[in-house]
Amino acid sequence: MNEVKKPKKSLIFYYLIAIVVLLILNFIAVPYMNQRQIKETDYGTFMKMTEEHDIGRVEIQNNQILFTDKAEDNIYKTGLMNDDGLIDRLYKSGAVFSSEIIEEASPLLSFILSWIVPILIFVLLGQYMSKKLMKKAGGSNSMMFNLGKSNAKIYVKSSDGIKFSDVAGEDEAKENLTEIVDYLHSPGRYTEIGASMPKGILLVGPPGTGKTMLAKAVAGEANVPFFSMSGSEFVEMFVGMGASKVRDLFKQAKEKAPCIVFIDEIDAIGQKRDGRVGGNDEREQTLNQLLTEMDGFEGNNGVIILAATNRPESLDPALTRPGRFDRRVPVELPDLKGREEILRVHAKKIKIDYGVDFSKIARMASGASGAELANIINEAALRAIRDGRKSASQHDLEESIEVVIAGYQKKNAILTDKEKMTVAYHEIGHALVAAMQTNSAPVQKITIVPRTSGALGYTMQVEENNHYLMSKDELENKIATLTGGRAAEEVALGTVTTGASNDIEQATKIARAMITRYGMCDKFDMVAMETISNKYLGGDASLQCSETTQTDIDKKVVEIVRRQHEKAAQILLDNRAKLDILAQYLFEHETITGEEFMNILNS
Ligand code: ADP
Repeated sequence: MNEVKKPKKSLIFYYLIAIVVLLILNFIAVPYMNQRQIKETDYGTFMKMTEEHDIGRVEIQNNQILFTDKAEDNIYKTGLMNDDGLIDRLYKSGAVFSSEIIEEASPLLSFILSWIVPILIFVLLGQYMSKKLMKKAGGSNSMMFNLGKSNAKIYVKSSDGIKFSDVAGEDEAKENLTEIVDYLHSPGRYTEIGASMPKGILLVGPPGTGKTMLAKAVAGEANVPFFSMSGSEFVEMFVGMGASKVRDLFKQAKEKAPCIVFIDEIDAIGQKRDGRVGGNDEREQTLNQLLTEMDGFEGNNGVIILAATNRPESLDPALTRPGRFDRRVPVELPDLKGREEILRVHAKKIKIDYGVDFSKIARMASGASGAELANIINEAALRAIRDGRKSASQHDLEESIEVVIAGYQKKNAILTDKEKMTVAYHEIGHALVAAMQTNSAPVQKITIVPRTSGALGYTMQVEENNHYLMSKDELENKIATLTGGRAAEEVALGTVTTGASNDIEQATKIARAMITRYGMCDKFDMVAMETISNKYLGGDASLQCSETTQTDIDKKVVEIVRRQHEKAAQILLDNRAKLDILAQYLFEHETITGEEFMNILNS
């Protein structure tokens, strides 16, 4: 969609004009005035000039004498003396008696030029600039001049707007929103039967899953204006400004109805009002205004508010009650099919080799969000350009997944042969344990090329299908696979290294969750030992049990991990010959595919 923008004009031009005018005043006009100014002189000089017949015009005033030289270049003044015969002498010297030696306007003109005009110029320039800045501030929210204006970005109707077809996967969400589009197309059908549309719809889901895109797509499909603003943009330095921004936004929206108003990250203003002392007044006032506005307009006036958040439970209950944001549309991470579709949608934007296996890429990128998948496609295109190719290949895509997961390859990381061998055994240990347990996902790729994330090597496992449930066996196998790396070091090299720290952390997490949250330990049956408190602010788990139980839990965790560690070591001992062959092969080749691995394993 097109955002309306104004062309910029250079302020430097106006500064230059002001400077030129001032220079003219200072160097030409004022010196000219000064030239005509009266010079004070002593009475002796006046008498001498009279004797020398050098007086042009003369004017004798009450307390002073003004006179010019013969050429009338300069005006002089001197004090009045008790000088008999002065008039005679002047007359004889040929001086002309005059009463208009000084033009009256001169001091005034000088005053105007040197004081009034510059001040006027600066006042005008100042006014002009502040007007300009105010206009400019329409695009940013930090200008003092702009307090209280909503400065929502308005997207006008346009034929190239985002459509539902641009949003891949997310079928449930799209289905849900189709109704809104239908309502915006033909509100009559709804009013006829007396139904009113929900005023607000909350799009809930992890970051990068396409919430903003969906909101834009609703506007695009319905062909209505789209106002977009982020929750944090409402919150200003001064109390009350956020509220006035809300008012302004709704005023604009009502003028343009039917339209879509989209508030991103609504939790920034919509958090629960908990009445704490010293709470955030500004945020609460903004929220109150939003609630009032939502109540204020009729159900069918054509303004639909979409809001996005990834912390829905932190929202104030008043905001989520029926009549406000009463409909909640989950926008989840894409499943295997969704990932493939998203990859295809984004692949259309770049040149890509014919016959790329998107399904394989989608399987490799399990758990990736839409934004990450879009990033993977872009990385692949960038890689192709770097290699001087005209289109991206399957290999580019696979490599860019690794870049997104583990960072770039470290070009000149120097590992000693001994370290490299240890890493090779470690990684083969993971892969071998995974492969020998039937329930574990097969290995996609093993590499011992160091990455910028700090990983010295890794084993990429691939989920063949979507996984919604995990059985106890699967969890145990996962722990065994995680301990496989360390077990291989012990079995083959008789030593342990620091390389397993991340594995240890993950294995412990799974084992602890099995006991405290999944009820997979006989001793505690189906009792929750841990609750996720503060789920929406980081998701910390807190134990909810007595100290003795905590000690028991710790013992159980150690027991589970130890049992799986022993199992992994046993698997490796049973396949000791294969372990050596595979590690040696990986040491030489640095990267091997899952296929190569299985071939050697089965040979
Ligand atoms: P959110 O608002 O949920 O954080 P966005 O809507 O801003 O996420 O998405 C960020 C980017 O990710 C989009 O610009 C788009 O390129 C990509 N993306 C996310 N989800 C999808 C999807 N379902 N289909 C296509 N692209 C997607």
